[in-house]
Amino acid sequence: METQSIVACDVPVVGINPLTTIDYPGKTAAVLFTGGCPWNCRYCHNPSCRDNTGSNGLTWEHIESFLVQRVGFLDGVVVSGGEPTIHANLPVLLDRIRGIGYSIALHTNGCNPEMLQVLTRKGLVDYVAMDVKAPPYLYEHVTRFSNTGVRVARSMSVILESGVGYEFRTTYHPRILDDYNLMDTVRAVYNAGGRRYYIQRFRKMGVSDEELVRYGDIFDVPGDIIEEARKLFDVFGIR
Ligand code: SF4
Repeated sequence: METQSIVACDVPVVGINPLTTIDYPGKTAAVLFTGGCPWNCRYCHNPSCRDNTGSNGLTWEHIESFLVQRVGFLDGVVVSGGEPTIHANLPVLLDRIRGIGYSIALHTNGCNPEMLQVLTRKGLVDYVAMDVKAPPYLYEHVTRFSNTGVRVARSMSVILESGVGYEFRTTYHPRILDDYNLMDTVRAVYNAGGRRYYIQRFRKMGVSDEELVRYGDIFDVPGDIIEEARKLFDVFGIR
């Protein structure tokens, strides 16, 4: 991930991954990372990005030059974070990326349903990958921030009603979600209307929470939950 100074379109893009084949289904893409996120999940794998206020953000000229050079090589651009939707000028950034000719995927924690409404109505995103971190009754425990579950539920509705491509995904760590909580999360996604869903096994790389790091990577997801999810969703996978 490269970094440089100054800020693009008033959105602090603090890093670029020049090539990914796993972050935008079916597409070869670059990832732009925006700085800042109001939440404080214990398993955050990019805390430096979460806490980055943008003073080291990339210029639009830098991003534009990078993207223009790769037209014909990359299919799309993933905008990730941190949390991109907290930045009021995100539509401007996406519009400029769109103007170069790229398909756009957004990774979001779902904290800003109003912004998602704007982006989907303006046709500025082609795919949204949204975290569903917990069942509603446990949301504040996971995000360590108030009223998060309500906003996430609204964001799910916005995405589903928009008709945009999407996936919902849950990071699984047994110290954060026990089997019962994970099953409730699966059912909450299904009951909200989600039909494309992934469970992501916790990976310790980049995480700052010492207890979770000591616990190590998670390899196993309870079999009965996998079985239930396979029955419920049109698209389901473990990552
Ligand atoms: S929502 Fe995402 S970026 Fe924000 S603290 Fe949680 S894991 Fe980190």
